[in-house]
Amino acid sequence: MALKRKAAKRVKSKPRKPALSAETTAPHPSLAKYGKPMLAALAKLGIQREFDLVLHLPMRYDDETRLYPISAAPEGAPVLVEGVVTDNAIKFRPKRQLVCTVEDASGVVMMRFLNFYGSQVKQLAPGTRVRLFGEIRQGFFGAEMVHPRYRVVRDDTPLAQTLTPVYPTTAGLNQANLQRMTRAALSVNDLADTLPESLLGKLRLPAFRDSVTFLHHPPPGAEQSALQSRSHAAWRRVKFDELLAQQLSMRVHYDQRKTVGAPALPAKHKITQQLLKALPFKLTSAQMKAGAEIERDLGQPHPMQRLLQGDVGSGKTVVAALAALQAIENGYQVAVMAPTEILGEQHYAKFSTWLGELDIEIAWLSGSLARKDKRASLDAIASGSAQIAIGTHALFQDAVEFSRLGLAIVDEQHRFGVRQRLALRLKGAKAGTTVQPHQLMMSATPIPRTLAMSYYADLDVSVIDELPPGRTAIATRLVADTRRDEVIQRIRDACVAGSQAYWVCPLIEESEVLQLQTALDTHAQLLATFPELKVGLVHGRLPAAEKLAVMQSFKNGEIQLLVATTVIEVGVDVPNATLMVIEHAERMGLAQLHQLRGRVGRGAQASTCILLYQQPLSQLARERLKIIYESGDGFEIAQHDLRVRGPGELLGARQSGVPMLRFADLDADVDLLEAARVVAADLLRDQPAVAERHLQRWLGGRQQYLRV
Ligand code: ADP
Ligand code: MG
Repeated sequence: MALKRKAAKRVKSKPRKPALSAETTAPHPSLAKYGKPMLAALAKLGIQREFDLVLHLPMRYDDETRLYPISAAPEGAPVLVEGVVTDNAIKFRPKRQLVCTVEDASGVVMMRFLNFYGSQVKQLAPGTRVRLFGEIRQGFFGAEMVHPRYRVVRDDTPLAQTLTPVYPTTAGLNQANLQRMTRAALSVNDLADTLPESLLGKLRLPAFRDSVTFLHHPPPGAEQSALQSRSHAAWRRVKFDELLAQQLSMRVHYDQRKTVGAPALPAKHKITQQLLKALPFKLTSAQMKAGAEIERDLGQPHPMQRLLQGDVGSGKTVVAALAALQAIENGYQVAVMAPTEILGEQHYAKFSTWLGELDIEIAWLSGSLARKDKRASLDAIASGSAQIAIGTHALFQDAVEFSRLGLAIVDEQHRFGVRQRLALRLKGAKAGTTVQPHQLMMSATPIPRTLAMSYYADLDVSVIDELPPGRTAIATRLVADTRRDEVIQRIRDACVAGSQAYWVCPLIEESEVLQLQTALDTHAQLLATFPELKVGLVHGRLPAAEKLAVMQSFKNGEIQLLVATTVIEVGVDVPNATLMVIEHAERMGLAQLHQLRGRVGRGAQASTCILLYQQPLSQLARERLKIIYESGDGFEIAQHDLRVRGPGELLGARQSGVPMLRFADLDADVDLLEAARVVAADLLRDQPAVAERHLQRWLGGRQQYLRV
């Protein structure tokens, strides 16, 4: 009967969605021996098959291999002692607690439990021999251990033969369980090496089996500091394996692109030449180099996936415009996607000035367009009369149909998720074919070299590492909030001299409402402070049309001081603005500060960025302000950022599609990363079966994720 009911229930349950990750599918057969709650806890730890337990490594170890005499046990670190319970009582000190006295030949220690079961009182009856693990402290009543881990033993119970692993865990899964499960995983899984011995010899890395066995159960006397700092050879082996798996999967992904078709859009040097002639400046050599790389890619019958990197103001837009023209020369359409309305509008304005004379139709598309205008844009895109479509996320909505999309340009790509980019890519893939548009991604958040080598290994990268000539360095000043008056005077001086200034309102992460209120207050305050100046306000909640109108007035010089929230972080380009004040700079991240600062220093005039901060500064904030003060180089700042925040935060949305590194550290393990890169290429070329086996071991079912 019970069985029947179960079967009926299963039929009724919702059909499963086709899953991208193994989490939502049935448990891996190797874990079928565990119950549902256990599986859920394991899944939380990223353990989806039993082998993942082998790769679930301890974060530290307890040393229960050596027994100390109670009186000689060092304090300040957990130790193992053993003795006989001589007294056991529930006391009120003032809270109810269980206190047991334990004695060995050398001395006495008190065990104190604030939470305990009645059964424990019985279990710890006088005369019982116990082994305690914990930290000894000198309490009011003498040496004591609070909530030690304890075990009832006989006098011949052997000591642990290895250090005791302490695993990262989650609610519902205790250490004892994890230890047992891991032991089982180590004994039943195939730990044979995926890599040839000759390779390991060359890299001076130990065998996989030895490494994981060692890391889970280090022998007594193993060097704890090398384990803790993960510099031990066993750790290096695991980290190398992880990096190799990542390199392999990225490489495979990269190579798969060669099996997908894209329209070949070879350079014709017609309208691109016209644009170059019409520009009021000459391209920098870095722009030319990046342009040539893109030009070559577009000519291939496989989709380009190139990341164009360059510091703020390095001139990525014109390089993108040239790429767009190459697609248009070939009779294809181009989509340009921006993360914000303001930035989209700027692209639209810039492309319109540059390409307007070349008789190219550009459609503007944004979420806030009037219905009629939106319809007109959509029609122009669908009919193919619009050769370029520029817009925000609205571009991705299903209603947008391109007639012949050949190239998708994604600005500030790190703000978009892998999924959104995929959606755009698929727009160009006509049903039933495997043809995809080319893709050019742009980022002003420089990606440190190690990050590019690992997480971005599936992309080609072009770097514009040179600013257009004639830019003046931006002077950065750190000013305590208490010296606001001086700052006010500087703004007055700058504006009287014909310059313009930004006043960036503090970031208030907890509340958008509060953030808006602060911006309104600041605006009112500055209006009162500067009766002689025209003061404008722009913030995220402003209707798009108003936002654009304010930006336009600022650009035209009708507004002298622009009070803004961080919406101006990206893309805003007003060369006459030479002064920026950032309030509560201590609350902002490095990348954000660098982006904001890049809004000035865009003209011939010397520019200044004033970072107003409020005391007291946290250690982290102090560090950030020091870096931003000392360096104007985006790459250097990004490298610091990587160190401070780790890759997860830096990568933002991208991480959803890329296997994250759990063990390797891009800062400390550069040598392993470099080695893994070379080995990955070699293996895929010469020993694909080895590569496959290695990927299987490390990624298991998660490999398909990469296909996104
Ligand atoms: P970003 O890389 O931050 O997107 P932009 O493309 O907005 O930078 O360029 C910043 C400014 O520099 C723009 O006003 C642009 O027209 C100008 N610019 C771009 N390339 C050059 C160049 N080679 N010489 C002079 N000015 C340039
Ligand atoms: Mg830009």
